[in-house]
Amino acid sequence: TARKTGTRKSAGTAAKAAGKSEPAPATELEVRNPATGALAGTVPIDTADTVAAKVRELRAHQPAWEALGPDGRKEWLLKLQDWLVDNTDRLADVLQSETGKARVDSLIDPAFSVDLTGYYARRAAKFLADEHPSPHSPLARVKQLTTVFRPYQVVGVITPWNFPLAMPVIDVIPALAAGAAVILKPSEVTPLSAVELARGWREIGAPPVFEVVTGAGETGAAVVGNADYIQFTGSTATGRKIAAACTERMIPFSLELGGKDPAIVLADADLDRAAHGIAFGGLFNAGQVCISVERVYVEAPVYDEFLAKLTAAVREIRQGVDGRKPEFDMGALANENQAQIVQRHVEDAVKAGARITTGGKRTGVGTLFEPTVLADVDHTMSCMTEETFGPTLPVMKVADEAEAVRMANDSIYGLSASVWSGDKDRAERVARQLNAGAVNINDVFANMFSFALPMGGWGLSGTGARWGGANGVRKYCRQQAITKPLL
Ligand code: ADP
Repeated sequence: TARKTGTRKSAGTAAKAAGKSEPAPATELEVRNPATGALAGTVPIDTADTVAAKVRELRAHQPAWEALGPDGRKEWLLKLQDWLVDNTDRLADVLQSETGKARVDSLIDPAFSVDLTGYYARRAAKFLADEHPSPHSPLARVKQLTTVFRPYQVVGVITPWNFPLAMPVIDVIPALAAGAAVILKPSEVTPLSAVELARGWREIGAPPVFEVVTGAGETGAAVVGNADYIQFTGSTATGRKIAAACTERMIPFSLELGGKDPAIVLADADLDRAAHGIAFGGLFNAGQVCISVERVYVEAPVYDEFLAKLTAAVREIRQGVDGRKPEFDMGALANENQAQIVQRHVEDAVKAGARITTGGKRTGVGTLFEPTVLADVDHTMSCMTEETFGPTLPVMKVADEAEAVRMANDSIYGLSASVWSGDKDRAERVARQLNAGAVNINDVFANMFSFALPMGGWGLSGTGARWGGANGVRKYCRQQAITKPLL
């Protein structure tokens, strides 16, 4: 997903004072609003040494945190939830300043974070309770058999830029709830929201078991080199490097990677609902969502009618640079590199014969790219095979349901998908044939807001333990078996 590092600011004055001609290595990262170019803030670049020192500190404090038990930890997590509620507007300000998002999109992270924190604060005790395997086991006549869930000491969480608060929260909270200490390395493009989250943890006076480190890939690599478990969300290319580094250290990891989510519109679908749902699914957060709709397959008999409705729905989107008042539906892309990827996918498609029915270019302001519909696309085009992560909806005509399934499954990714049909049972039959970690019927994103469901990708979209439900917290635990004589 994010491909560009934050701008490095070298310690030039120090270098000059020392009379050196070589610029000293960068010590800070500048974070800029991609919509306006305004400086949003600076953060230090944590070196391998500072990361190692912070992990040592966390390791020292973790046993007391574990010893509090789920109920003791719940108190702190609920205090953090209150803090998130009390600070929602300020958190949205910070997030907006580092992303250039529309105001409505900037409020999603605080809202999601409040809900997810409450969910895990209240349910962790149940999810982590000891289990006593089947009493039918002959051994259970002489022994008490117990499965215990004990946390890893230090969990490393490495996150991308598309949801600078929600992506950290979705992993940091369950890991803390499990009793682990957490070291978080947010994206260098958008580190400020994560720094705020750590500030919140300090402000409520919670035990020092959560730290943020900032910097680019080298800082992330230092987290991988020191933590006991790695949870990574980001691009497939970086995920592959992290998997290799974790394997070398023999530590477990879980990866949430890219996606190229298909939407299948069957001829019996409510086309108005499908057009609006898919417009939202493709354009929410300017398309910078791992589970964005990135490919649309429409059965031939309704192709033209659906395309007209989708184009009309997309033309309704108001785009611009928002202030605190929500005037627009869509804002900027997170960085210049991202805008160029979107442009390349659109241009490649047009060269290969695709038709733009609306949008198709940059607006001329910051990294803003017009909401775009591409018609008559096929799988020879990069817009149908590579992750775009932008406000484009490529639409392809398919002969029938079987071809739609075949095309949807023709991808290296398998994150989520949607099926649109007037016959919900038919749609479910289609859903069960798709290679995807989640399928929403006549909807988008619904699985993501149902915290009890497993969330995670198939294929190159991810591997390891899933988000959600009991799994979302147990993944941060080692299982321990205890046998105890009954008499
Ligand atoms: P995106 O943000 O687009 O998903 P990446 O996958 O490159 O982009 O980055 C995701 C996160 O991984 C960022 O926080 C980034 O700094 C971090 N990162 C990049 N390279 C490495 C690496 N070799 N080891 C650990 N973390 C890394």
